[in-house]
Amino acid sequence: MVVKGTVYLVGAGPGDPRLLTLRGAEVLQRADVVVHDRLVSEALLDLAPSGAERIDVGKAPGDAPVSQEEINRVLVDRARTASTVVRLKGGDPFVFGRGGEEAIACAGAGIPVEIVPGVTSAIGAPGLAGIPLTHRGVASTVALVTASVAIGPADLSKVTTAADTLVVLMAMRRLGDVCGALIAAGRSPDEPAALVSSATTFEQRRVIGTLETLAAKAHAAGAEPPATLVVGDVVDLAESIAPSAERAPSSATDPAFGTLHLV
Ligand code: SAH
Repeated sequence: MVVKGTVYLVGAGPGDPRLLTLRGAEVLQRADVVVHDRLVSEALLDLAPSGAERIDVGKAPGDAPVSQEEINRVLVDRARTASTVVRLKGGDPFVFGRGGEEAIACAGAGIPVEIVPGVTSAIGAPGLAGIPLTHRGVASTVALVTASVAIGPADLSKVTTAADTLVVLMAMRRLGDVCGALIAAGRSPDEPAALVSSATTFEQRRVIGTLETLAAKAHAAGAEPPATLVVGDVVDLAESIAPSAERAPSSATDPAFGTLHLV
């Protein structure tokens, strides 16, 4: 089968469209097809030519999800007839985003793939909330963890001994269980912990507590997914770095938010 196009796996960043890379904007502006996730900003989709085909493969919760096999099939299929196929994914394509599977499927079908990294929420969300993941004398190792698969003390014990800072994605819906599992795996109940939800958007919230108190505090603050959990002494730095980051970052209230004027 003749291959016409290239698939670009583009990281859209955590929400604010202005966090897209210049390379990401470049390929979007000449896209023939954009295959995108649900949480990707409209302003980014608007960068594509008006005639580009837009395919939403990130159905809202409740709708029948589009299977990974189907997404892979769409990418391969479109690359046979279109030149520029952009797969626009939240955050970074290779951080808990199944981007690797998509790249393997395309490569296996003989389709050239280019990875365009994005700002991952694992680093960007804590950063916006004033939490550096490493800090001299405080933390020199970081582990990125997902809460979406069954995590038990056995799995977590590996990271609790290996990393000063833990960043847990997809933890919001079972935050209490996740914090409890981390305590069971050996982290102290008094260890500082923070939840940063809807980072970069008007709904951004930062809730700070300890592993023991965070779930109740986050619930009381009305935090909603998507949210990133950070555990470790670096959380204590937030008050000095961004004392007023409980609410939306100043960039989200900037009049330019959500609009992009690229040439
Ligand atoms: N590839 C993505 C992560 C996909 S998993 C990335 O690199 O960011 C989805 C998880 O990312 C969510 O459950 C949440 O934990 C986190 N996340 C995504 N957007 C976020 C945001 N705006 N604020 C905080 N966390 C976010």
